[in-house]
Amino acid sequence: MRMKKSALYVVVYLLFAVNVFAQFNKNIVIAHRGAWKVAGLPENSIASLNHAVALGCHGAEFDVHLTKDGVIVVNHDDNFYGMDIEKATYAELLTKQHPNGEKIPTLEAYLREGMKQTKTKLILEIKTSTVNLDRSLELTRLTVALVKKLKAEKWVEYICFSYDVGKKIHELNPKAKVAYLTGDVAPDVAKKDGYTGLDYHFSVYKEHPTWIKEAKALGLTVNAWTVNDKPEMQTLINQNVEYITTNEPELLFEVLGGK
Ligand code: MG
Repeated sequence: MRMKKSALYVVVYLLFAVNVFAQFNKNIVIAHRGAWKVAGLPENSIASLNHAVALGCHGAEFDVHLTKDGVIVVNHDDNFYGMDIEKATYAELLTKQHPNGEKIPTLEAYLREGMKQTKTKLILEIKTSTVNLDRSLELTRLTVALVKKLKAEKWVEYICFSYDVGKKIHELNPKAKVAYLTGDVAPDVAKKDGYTGLDYHFSVYKEHPTWIKEAKALGLTVNAWTVNDKPEMQTLINQNVEYITTNEPELLFEVLGGK
């Protein structure tokens, strides 16, 4: 009797888990640096994250760096309004602000905001350090640890240009979804090294016309960046890519016919 009851609990738990995971939007649209362009918002701001959620994107992409004093912050460039992020303390960065009044978001604040909803995934790019590989790997360790501490694993998928960073993420959390950005590695090699997806510039798939099919056959997801015009979007949609990363999510939704 006790066995049966525990088995029932497992079934109920699995149904609950499947349902929770099924809630994320099922479209292919990933807003690059959040959804900022049409709305006139700062890239990588909390406002651009929330706008990507409001548009119904599958994912909001963003970039993280490590300050001199070990705080993970969200910004695209390695400087924030003229201040070199890796050589500045977090307190120093707080003296600058986005035009909408936001300060530079910490990764913790960004994740906490994103976790208020379960429709849009948080596509976390670990930026390569301008100092050295050790700093990139330290940022990777701290990021994966923070995602774990906040229980944000369900929302977060990782992307990176540094091949070593992606391998480190896989080592730290073998269940993490990690896609490689640089475009210089064949699908089978990325798969062997623990990557779960390719996220290459769309021109790479033209140079290597077999890679999308090969990646899919290996169970890797295929994403392309940064695709901002209709013909390129349509070309990729015709090849059944899983995701398209774009500065123009509204346009991509239009191409998809409102799906
Ligand atoms: Mg990025």
